[in-house]
Amino acid sequence: MRIILIGAPGAGKGTQAESIKNKYPLAHISTGDILRANVKAGTELGKNAKNYMDAGKLVPDEIIVAMMEGRLQEADCKDGFLLDGFPRTNPQAEALDKLLDKLGIALDAVVELDVDDEIVIKRLTTRRVCRSCGEIYNTLMKPSKVDGICDKCGGEVVQRDDDKETVIRRRLAVFHEQTAPLIEYYRNKGVLMTVDATCGKDAVLKLLENRKAGN
Ligand code: ADP
Ligand code: ZN
Repeated sequence: MRIILIGAPGAGKGTQAESIKNKYPLAHISTGDILRANVKAGTELGKNAKNYMDAGKLVPDEIIVAMMEGRLQEADCKDGFLLDGFPRTNPQAEALDKLLDKLGIALDAVVELDVDDEIVIKRLTTRRVCRSCGEIYNTLMKPSKVDGICDKCGGEVVQRDDDKETVIRRRLAVFHEQTAPLIEYYRNKGVLMTVDATCGKDAVLKLLENRKAGN
C-alpha cells in the first residue's frame, strides 16, 4: 500500500500513521522526523533546514526533493510506504509524480485529514515531546506523571520550538497557502479521500479497510 497523508500541522498525521502501520507493512516516512533527526545530529542537511523549521517556514523544495528521492528508493519502501508531511507544495508533488513514474509505481490513496485551525492551535500549544525518545505528551490530555520528565525513559519533556503559538499560526498560514492546493491536485487525479481528523486515531485505517472491502 502506498499512501500520502495530507493535513494541517497538528491534524494528527503521525497518530493516524501509527494506527495504519500496525495493520499494514509499510515504511512510515515523516519528513518532519527526518529533518529533526538531522538537526539533532548536526548534519549538513540539518544545518540547512533548522532556521526554516524554527521560523515555521517550509524547507526549500530542492532540499526536500533530493532527500525524498533517496529515501523512497531504500529497501524498506518495497512493501509500501506512507508519506507523512510530503509532498507539501506543488513542485514537490510534481517531483514525486515524476519519481513514481520512473520507479514504475502508483499511489493507492491520498488522504486529507480535515481539521479546524482553532482545534490545531489548542492541540499544539499543549503538545510536549521527550527530547530523548520522542514520546509525545499533552498537558491536558496526556501529561507525563512527573512534570517535565518522560514516563518511558526519564528524558526531558519539552515544547518543540515550533509549537509556540505565533509559530503555529505561521505554520497554519503556510499550510493554507502552499499545501492546501495539493488537495485539488489529487482530487483531480481521482485518488483523494477526506477524513474528519477529530474522528479518532483509527479514522484513516477504517476508511482504508472499508475501501478494500469495497464498501
Ligand atoms: P507539522 O506537520 O506539524 O507542521 P512536521 O513535523 O511535519 O510538522 O514538520 C516540521 C517542519 O519541518 C515544518 O514546519 C517544515 O519547516 C519542515 N518540513 C517538513 N516536511 C516538509 C516538506 N515536505 N517541505 C518543506 N518543509 C518541510
Ligand atoms: Zn522519553
